[in-house]
Amino acid sequence: MRPIELLAALQTIDIKLDAHRKRYAEIQAALKTPATLQQAQNARDEARDNLTHWRKEHKNRETAVADQIRRIKAQEQQLYGGRIKNVREQVALQKNVESLKRHLDAQEEAVLEAMIELDSAETTFATTGEQLSKHQASWAQKEAELLAEKATLIAAARKLKTKRTQVISHIPASPLKRYEALRNSKQGVAVATLNRNSCSGCGATLPTALHQQLYGDDLVSCPLCGRLLTERLPR
Ligand SMILES: [Zn+2]
Repeated sequence: MRPIELLAALQTIDIKLDAHRKRYAEIQAALKTPATLQQAQNARDEARDNLTHWRKEHKNRETAVADQIRRIKAQEQQLYGGRIKNVREQVALQKNVESLKRHLDAQEEAVLEAMIELDSAETTFATTGEQLSKHQASWAQKEAELLAEKATLIAAARKLKTKRTQVISHIPASPLKRYEALRNSKQGVAVATLNRNSCSGCGATLPTALHQQLYGDDLVSCPLCGRLLTERLPR
């Protein structure tokens, strides 16, 4: 193959590789855990902590009530056991029992409050858990698709790189250097086509005589943009 044909083939490969790299970067960015999933995770974790808190609180409050009932029973046994003969002592003990019972009322009220909170915490935990599962399932599907595309992309890029090495091995150093320089300075397009006397790189209308030169071994460049010209680019 003539140098321009090899360079045109190389550019086709390089443009494909550019597109692969761009898509690869997009996939990498898209593979980060989505904010909505993170939010669902946080909401579920918060609900779980709240549930743990109210389970413990409910248990503690119930224990406190049981302790208080025991305390009252003990005092009542003392009171009605007949061992205390002193009336003042009996009155004092009676007052103490009454006081303990008033406190018990407040404690039982607190148990009821904890039950309501616990019930609500259980509902929230279940709801946030369902939401999280939905988000996880939809993300798992999306993630699998992205990972599959990434694997396909890597395999295709590997093939293209092998092909690139083969093509490059046939290109002499000087045209290759020119190609690389043009790729860097001309937005990745070093080789342009000459279609109906018009350069596909910059759009300039070029002299008809230039078309004949395309079939020689020398490289022909567009007088306006400097890109190397060829009849057509491979797909
Ligand atoms: Zn041009």
